[in-house]
Amino acid sequence: MKYITRNLEETQKVAKDFISNLNPYRDRAVVIGLYGDLGSGKTSFTQGIAKSLGVGETVTSPTFVIEKIYELVEKKFTHLIHIDAYRLDKSEELQHLGWQEVISDPNNLVLIEWPEIVEEIMPNHVKISFKTLEKEDSREIEIDY
Ligand code: ADP
Ligand code: MG
Repeated sequence: MKYITRNLEETQKVAKDFISNLNPYRDRAVVIGLYGDLGSGKTSFTQGIAKSLGVGETVTSPTFVIEKIYELVEKKFTHLIHIDAYRLDKSEELQHLGWQEVISDPNNLVLIEWPEIVEEIMPNHVKISFKTLEKEDSREIEIDY
């Protein structure tokens, strides 16, 4: 499915609709790879998901801390895990953060920016690609299950 959004709010609306239609798997975490250049809207999309899952605190880019974990209350998932692999140069670093446990727990919803950097340890995942378009603040968002 492909969407064109004209501003941040529209991107967050796409995120909200996406998450309302997404259900947990029985045997593993739902992992979502967010592909696209810097500034294309990956973190903004994650913020939209966090808001619709009732995360009260501000979701900021985990570029420097690599991973942030948000607890969810009475939702389809118990944890939203937001990872930015941009600064990682080896998949090993993610392995050290307990990656195998993270992706095997069906209670987890995992969103990872720059998944191509750690592609050898990415399980099957939903792929969402962001593109900055020429026209003003437009973005193209393509969701590929
Ligand atoms: P990334 O995580 O991909 O580097 P961010 O979400 O951090 O990107 O940044 C996107 C920036 O672009 C934000 O400052 C946001 O306000 C702005 N923006 C403008 N138009 C859009 C849009 N249509 N969708 C998402 N973000 C947009
Ligand atoms: Mg980002």
